[in-house]
Amino acid sequence: MKKLKSYKIINIIKSLLLISAIGVIVYFLVEFLSFILNPGYAKFSALYGLFSAVFYILLGTLLGPKIVLASVGARPLEEHPRYEEVREIVEELSKEAKIPIPKLYYFVSNDINAFATGLTPGNACIAITTGALKYLNREELAGVLGHEIGHIKHFDMMYMTITSVLVGLVSFIANWMIYSLFWSSDERPAWVNIIAILVAILTPIVATIIQLAISREREYLADLFSAELNGGPDGLISAFRKIQIVNTGDIPYNEAIEPLYFVSVEELFSTHPPIEKRIQRLLEVFEQ
Ligand SMILES: [Zn+2]
Repeated sequence: MKKLKSYKIINIIKSLLLISAIGVIVYFLVEFLSFILNPGYAKFSALYGLFSAVFYILLGTLLGPKIVLASVGARPLEEHPRYEEVREIVEELSKEAKIPIPKLYYFVSNDINAFATGLTPGNACIAITTGALKYLNREELAGVLGHEIGHIKHFDMMYMTITSVLVGLVSFIANWMIYSLFWSSDERPAWVNIIAILVAILTPIVATIIQLAISREREYLADLFSAELNGGPDGLISAFRKIQIVNTGDIPYNEAIEPLYFVSVEELFSTHPPIEKRIQRLLEVFEQ
């Protein structure tokens, strides 16, 4: 278990460093903007960022779960024959994790998948596919649900909202920089323009790469948390193995919901590590 602790600490430090890196990029962009252009613009974009962060967090708290659940056509789990069993598992795991019991939903998809939504443990919901309810046994379900409870416990939805606000801010400032270069009549040396264009093109790409890396770290952490809650990784690993056989991408898909899923629908965008790597990490940490 010593190994688990050190993995967890490293993971949390990595996530914090990555999110600070995006913060540093924002700071650097604002400074750069006020250096080459108008300090007024820079101040405005910093304020804009602050307001949009507060706005998205409020919006996410008030409406987030409802919008996400509606977008996949989620129904209360009470209507499903396996409700009692799943509720029992979630009650047990939530008690162990010391979080309030999340509301439970299901939605139609033959893929094995699930997601948690809600920015704080107090308003968290877990939704699970009919595929997961059809193919997974109790132990495997506990592995998947433990992972989602890990996200809730670690405030991952809040974390990722803040990250995407920061990444959005980077793109906003970068776009603004390009517009200002073309529209402002100030005299500037050519090299300043070239550097500004390069910065404006590269920083949003770098910020997005960092955002994906943060998301993958949170996924590993949720896997470890689930294995810890369930007294070992066997159920989770067995669920992964079934996913590799069953899943075909037959599931509601959009950019906003993809990062929430238990396993990625499109491996290309890699908000999640590949399943093989997730299994490997679990075996590494939990082998005696
Ligand atoms: Zn996850």
